[in-house]
Amino acid sequence: MTEAVLVVGSANADLVVATDRRPAGGETVLGGDTQILPGGKGANTAVAAARLGADVALIGAVGDDAHGRLLLDSLRGSGVGTDRVRVVDRPTGAAYITVTPDGENSILVSPGANHALAPADAADPAGAKVLVASLEVPLDVVEHAIACAARAGVRTVLNLSPTAKLSEETLRHLDVLVVNEHEAAWLLGTDGDGSGDGDGSGGSDGSGGHDSHNSDAASLLDLGPDAVVITRGPEGALVATRGEQADIDHVEVSSPQVTAVDTTGAGDAFTGALVTWLASGATVADAARRAVDVAAVSVTKRGAQPSYPLLDELS
Ligand code: ATP
Repeated sequence: MTEAVLVVGSANADLVVATDRRPAGGETVLGGDTQILPGGKGANTAVAAARLGADVALIGAVGDDAHGRLLLDSLRGSGVGTDRVRVVDRPTGAAYITVTPDGENSILVSPGANHALAPADAADPAGAKVLVASLEVPLDVVEHAIACAARAGVRTVLNLSPTAKLSEETLRHLDVLVVNEHEAAWLLGTDGDGSGDGDGSGGSDGSGGHDSHNSDAASLLDLGPDAVVITRGPEGALVATRGEQADIDHVEVSSPQVTAVDTTGAGDAFTGALVTWLASGATVADAARRAVDVAAVSVTKRGAQPSYPLLDELS
């Protein structure tokens, strides 16, 4: 079967515990009950797209364990194709998430089965219209998937999350690079510490204003992709594309104003929506206009996948 959207990425069990405060080294703190939720950037993106009606499959890996079954059930329940999700002899990836009353998360990811994924798993884009990847799986898998898709004439989208050193060739193969402001600063080397974790202290932390965002987007286009989307939290997103005369077209896409209760997985909701509309022929700017609406709904509800809207829930 040919799916319009192929997602290459992680599937993790999110193990979430609320706590008044995080334990320091050597300390034990009692928290609330553990919530176990389906997550991982690849699975989230695939579920977001499927809930919007996209025909989508995930290329990924889970373990032969309860977390793996939870993820497969959640993917299938949302309509995501799982024929290319391998069940491997490593534990399913897990994200250990503590949430404090101020809403702040801290997350430790154990990649497990996600790191059993090999380049050969992602070599065949199988007639998809769009291939989208993110980086909780090995970099060589992502780079091979993008190269194979580009050679086959499949549009390629990369959400550079978490950050990783991409080859120049991969950057040139990209149709659309999606980054948040911290990832943009990391790629451009303007984030101060070069860590890419994004503590908001760098030159692209949202304080730089309109011209600085436009010039960041232009610098990212110089790295090779045909289009760049910088997501800007509650501000929405900036889309930059290179025109026929090598001039750069900037489109600011503002987000609907909403009361955010949980932004977990908002970036994956955005990317899943973006590729859904790209696969149906929209321009990058039009797809981003739909994506901010979808991501805005997602932040008004708790959790990642459970917060993603169905197409008919959008106004
Ligand atoms: P996350 O890590 O939380 O998944 P991210 O850091 O990758 O997200 P952001 O730029 O924070 O990326 O958010 C992605 C998109 O989600 C934004 O472009 C925007 O459309 C939407 N979004 C995030 N926060 C809010 C908010 N408070 N109100 C409305 N929309 C939001």
